[in-house]
Parts: sequence; C-alpha cells; structure tokens
Amino acid sequence: MPDCIFCAIAAGDIPGRIVHETEHSLAFLDVNPLAPGHTLVVPKDHYARLDDLSDEISADLFRTVDELVPRVEDAVDADASNVGINNGPAAGQEVEHVHVHIVPRFEDDGGSPIHAVAGDIPDLSDEEMSDIEAAISQS
Ligand code: 5GP
Ligand code: ZN
Repeated sequence: MPDCIFCAIAAGDIPGRIVHETEHSLAFLDVNPLAPGHTLVVPKDHYARLDDLSDEISADLFRTVDELVPRVEDAVDADASNVGINNGPAAGQEVEHVHVHIVPRFEDDGGSPIHAVAGDIPDLSDEEMSDIEAAISQS
C-alpha cells in the first residue's frame, strides 16, 4: 500500500529494528516506545483492520505474538506486558496497517491496566447486557 509506513518497513524501503520474521509476519521495535522493548507485530501484507485478515494470516500473526511476548519480556527484564490492538481510528489506531502492540510492564512503572483505554464506563442494565449477548452470539 503506497504511503503506508509499515508496508515500507516490511518491503525494506525504510529501516526498522526488526526482531523477528515469519512467512507472513514481521516484528520490530516501536520508534516511539512506551516502555523499553515496546514491539509491534504486523502482517507483512497490508490489512487495515483485524477482520480483514484471513485465517492463515491471523494464525501466523497471533502465533508470532505468543512466541515473542516472553522473549520481549526477558530481553528487558520486564515483570509483565500489555498486549493490545487499536482496531480502527475510533480506538486510537493511527497507522492503518494491523499491528499488535507488546508493551513491557514493570512493577511500579506508573502505568495503567488495559481497562484504562475505554471512555465513559456505561451502566448497563441486565436487559441491555442480554441484548448485547444475543447480538454477538447470534451474529
Ligand atoms: P497506533 O496508534 O496506530 O496503534 O500505533 C502506531 C504505532 O506505530 C505508534 O506506537 C508509533 O510510535 C509507531 N510508529 C509510527 N511510525 C513508525 C515508524 O516509522 N517506525 C516504527 N518502528 N514505529 C512507528
Ligand atoms: Zn501497510
């Protein structure tokens, strides 16, 4: 995809600190790390959103994430990590090429759990919860 920074890294057109590569996925250090070792795992081909991925690409991507999390944590002596995806602009996705963030976390690093990413917390009734449950399970 022209003008996509992650496609350019995958193509070798711009430098990236690449830490791992598979047939379909690439992992490299985030240029503006939220913590030492902050790593991005991306499909080599361009897909904007998670549901654009085929089963094969998705399986390769998440297997790569699974493999890399302990390696990243060990490399920077982290105590834990947050693993997440900003899936769509409203969720904070700035680079429109699917990427999984691995953010190493440290005891008393002053950060927050992933629960901190949401906006105003809704106060949902049982009926509303049931409607949502049905809408997802029946889709
Ligand atoms: P998003 O908000 O889209 O989930 O996160 C995009 C991430 O890509 C950000 O954490 C940002 O620091 C990172 N990023 C943006 N441009 C580049 C780049 O050119 N190289 C690398 N390695 N990371 C980038
Ligand atoms: Zn791309």
